[in-house]
Amino acid sequence: MSILVKNGRIVTATDDYVADIFIEGEIVKTIGKDLAIKADKEIDATGKLVFPGGIDPHVHLDMPFMGTYSSDNYETGTRAALFGGTTIVIDFILQKQGNSLRSALEEWRGRSDNNCVGDYSFHMAVTDFNEHTKKEVQEMIEKEGIVSFKTFMAYKGALMIDDRQMIGLMEEVKKHGGLINVHATNGDMIDYLVAKHRAEGKLSPLYHYLSQPEITEAEASERFVDMASYTGCPGYIVHLTCEGALNAVRNATRRNQKMFVETCIQYLVIDASLYEQPDGAKWVMSPPLRQKKDQETLWAGINQGLVQVVATDHCPFKWEQKQMGKDDFSKIPNGHPAIENRMELLYTEGVHKGRITLNKYVEVACTNPAKIFGMFPRKGTIAVGSDADIVIFDPNEKHKISVTTHHMNVDYSGYEGWELTGKVKTVLLRGEVAIDNNECRIEKGFGKFIRRNKVTQVI
Ligand SMILES: [Zn+2]
Repeated sequence: MSILVKNGRIVTATDDYVADIFIEGEIVKTIGKDLAIKADKEIDATGKLVFPGGIDPHVHLDMPFMGTYSSDNYETGTRAALFGGTTIVIDFILQKQGNSLRSALEEWRGRSDNNCVGDYSFHMAVTDFNEHTKKEVQEMIEKEGIVSFKTFMAYKGALMIDDRQMIGLMEEVKKHGGLINVHATNGDMIDYLVAKHRAEGKLSPLYHYLSQPEITEAEASERFVDMASYTGCPGYIVHLTCEGALNAVRNATRRNQKMFVETCIQYLVIDASLYEQPDGAKWVMSPPLRQKKDQETLWAGINQGLVQVVATDHCPFKWEQKQMGKDDFSKIPNGHPAIENRMELLYTEGVHKGRITLNKYVEVACTNPAKIFGMFPRKGTIAVGSDADIVIFDPNEKHKISVTTHHMNVDYSGYEGWELTGKVKTVLLRGEVAIDNNECRIEKGFGKFIRRNKVTQVI
């Protein structure tokens, strides 16, 4: 099968030009002006933008939580991602405390393998670092192509590791060429504030926000950066939300550390005033939404190169599941749906509104996640030899976000009625038409597990 994409405006993290792309099998074979090559299928992209497939490196599909599961499974989640122009996601495996990384990997594969529509990969969350886990780090990196290890400085008693374990894990991961991801908030402080608010009968969703003040994130981010500096381990802070935390990273980069920062689309466009609404539980996530001043800081951080990635932390729960916490904010399942909306929201709010350039858009949504997580240049750009993961995008089409039209398996949208400018029209995944004309053309099982390279090879 071969495809010729004609006359589109190709935008990568560094380039912007009009040309044709010839695809054969799974990869891009030739790029050039007015290519005279006969293909099985031709797509006219005149007047359209042509981006690399989006990469969302922070999603939770079919994730076990409080006796239930996040409501998008690997099929519905990766399909919704494709509709929104995201061709590969990186999901999180969670080690159970007392069990091995291997057994967690097998459990997650049981749910994901042969069920994905789009491509996928895994981070490994280490929740119990001990002598046995230590031996498994090398095996995950070298045998399984899982090169990034997630850690939690919060969720005390469930997922949190202490600083002693963190340092040990950092040394081991560094030795074998991996990277540490971190949920950087101060678990003890949050634990105290949650208990205090509950004891005072303050149980509404607003108190979820008030139990995780900015200082809890700023303090933990700084501590993480210091430990990473000491060990020399490359670090990646997931879902950074606020000014205080970003300033901790500003200090770190003065020491020339390998420290990367991700924010998520919601922290750029919505704020904590939503927690005062009766349906505030829809936006209960950790860290919580912040203030308008933090949005300004994050946009600036993107333009300053301090924030390298815009992800989603997609972890949807239906309204009925969110109701588990209707009388107590601490029982609301954390997370919100965004996997399908990220690329179009970032285009509208970022590029269309003049906050970021087109090249920066591709850099933070496609290229940097590929580079940081060991998939570049196979993924994350449009180049000869790369996988033909391509999004054809109409920059002028106006449409609205709604639960009635989205493809995520969740019965509300956090952005209901939002007007967008720019729409994903056609998506190619490894040379196959995945989305066209608002229809998905590939089935579950098409999505491949992508093994990743050692981080030291690409940064
Ligand atoms: Zn997450």
